[in-house]
Amino acid sequence: MQATESLVRSVVAQVLSELSQGKRYDAVTDIMGNASQGHSVQSRLTTGRHGVFSCVDAAAKAARTAFEQLSERTIEDRAQMIERIRRIAIDQCEELGNMEMDETKIGRRKHKIEKLRTLGERTPGVEFMRSQVFSGDHGLAVIEHAPFGVIGAITPVTHSLPTITGNAISMLAAGNTLVVNPHPAGKQIAAEGVRRFNQALSTEYGIDNLICVIEEPTLESAEELFHHPEIALICVTGGPAVARAAMNCGKRAIVAGPGNPPVVVDETADLDRAARAIIRGASYDNNLLCIAEKEVFVVNEVFDATLDAMRRAGAVQLSQQEVDALTAVAIEAVEHNGRSRQIASKEFLGQDAVRLAQAAGKQVSPETELLFGETDEHNPFVSVEQMMPFVPFVRCRDIDDAIAKAKQYEHGFRHTSMIHSNNVRNMTRMGRVMDTTLFVKNGPSFSALGVEGEGYISYSIATPTGEGVTTPMTFTRERRCSLIDDLRIVGPVGGKR
Ligand code: NAD
Repeated sequence: MQATESLVRSVVAQVLSELSQGKRYDAVTDIMGNASQGHSVQSRLTTGRHGVFSCVDAAAKAARTAFEQLSERTIEDRAQMIERIRRIAIDQCEELGNMEMDETKIGRRKHKIEKLRTLGERTPGVEFMRSQVFSGDHGLAVIEHAPFGVIGAITPVTHSLPTITGNAISMLAAGNTLVVNPHPAGKQIAAEGVRRFNQALSTEYGIDNLICVIEEPTLESAEELFHHPEIALICVTGGPAVARAAMNCGKRAIVAGPGNPPVVVDETADLDRAARAIIRGASYDNNLLCIAEKEVFVVNEVFDATLDAMRRAGAVQLSQQEVDALTAVAIEAVEHNGRSRQIASKEFLGQDAVRLAQAAGKQVSPETELLFGETDEHNPFVSVEQMMPFVPFVRCRDIDDAIAKAKQYEHGFRHTSMIHSNNVRNMTRMGRVMDTTLFVKNGPSFSALGVEGEGYISYSIATPTGEGVTTPMTFTRERRCSLIDDLRIVGPVGGKR
């Protein structure tokens, strides 16, 4: 009885405090919803403020209110808000990157930090927004790009806060707000980042909840987000299951799905350069990136020389026996829809090369970034998106064979592929055959995202739905304004209008 009374008192105090800060009714329902579910007072006090919500409905409504407030602001205001998000991502990348590493326990600490900084620096913002104009004898047609409203975003464990940071910059630049259902294994860093972004934005620009996050994300809360009436557009970043769920949810979805990027090396390649690129791309964040090199097909003529180049560049080769030992523990079979399929074992996903080597029965130096080994095409490391720093190398008869195998093991995701070659015909043919969203020639995979290459970055690369590397423009609706016969100022002064 006493406990109930104190709970009610605490809820009332919280409600009064929220109302005195000008919060809307949704904050109240959120708090009451938590209370009825028996959540602790501490947890109730942290929900519904600065974007962190326990309930999808309250988050979506708060994001809608924030959208309406944002719609009253200028593009310059938006640019300044985005600059604030950038500064947090850049200035606090060390602390936040360490938090992400400590929570998820996958990938490499230095890359967790670097990813946040890079996304803060290079994600395109309002400067990327463009209008189009058609001007002719009959006047003007202006095509402007408007926001959708509130976007529902699903983010992966492989880059929890980095994906949210990039999504937030792009989506806000286009004038939207967002509600994120993060991966449960990266939920704390997701909530902490979102809280910091909103705290700064609400203090300095007077709008809270521009970016909302579900504090305890589940598959059910993802489903609720997909179907919530306030959610105008879905953007998911993840593997096959969530990609399918989003495409079947009945709303427009931008889907950044899985990949299994193959690399081809032909006889004209600069092998030392190729080896360095493969090592840097495949070892980045312990191969967690969806674009990272996952299997390599090398023409027979330079196969042995390519393995030599890999060793010279610092990667460690596993023997046949060691590859078998690693395969036995790092790839596992699961039942899915009554069928057995192979996936990367959670125990090894995103772990260091040293740990993988131990599992293979080999001692390697702590500096080792990447392991590799010769396998045939039937080794599961070739077909499975392993997301760990071991890469299989498959000997191929010639370039035709290598391209055909690359095509087969990319599984039709049309995500990313790479070639190392100085033969323009081979490069062109592979580009055409693969038909992937990203195609990199003579560099590491990440150069396709403007890191040591041209272009711009996003960690949501929409593959099955075709939007490519997402930008603010991806999150807009086209609106056309037509003015008939007037306002074209070029033309006969005294003649026909
Ligand atoms: P994951 O598919 O396990 O989870 C991704 C997100 O989807 C998580 O938030 C998860 O909770 C949610 N989810 C999973 N199944 C769902 C379902 N049925 N309904 C609703 N939500 C669901 O993937 P992960 O391990 O977090 O991330 C790695 C995967 O994401 C890899 O396959 C990688 O290629 C892909 N990825 C793609 C891109 C891209 O830009 N294309 C970027 C990063 C990661």
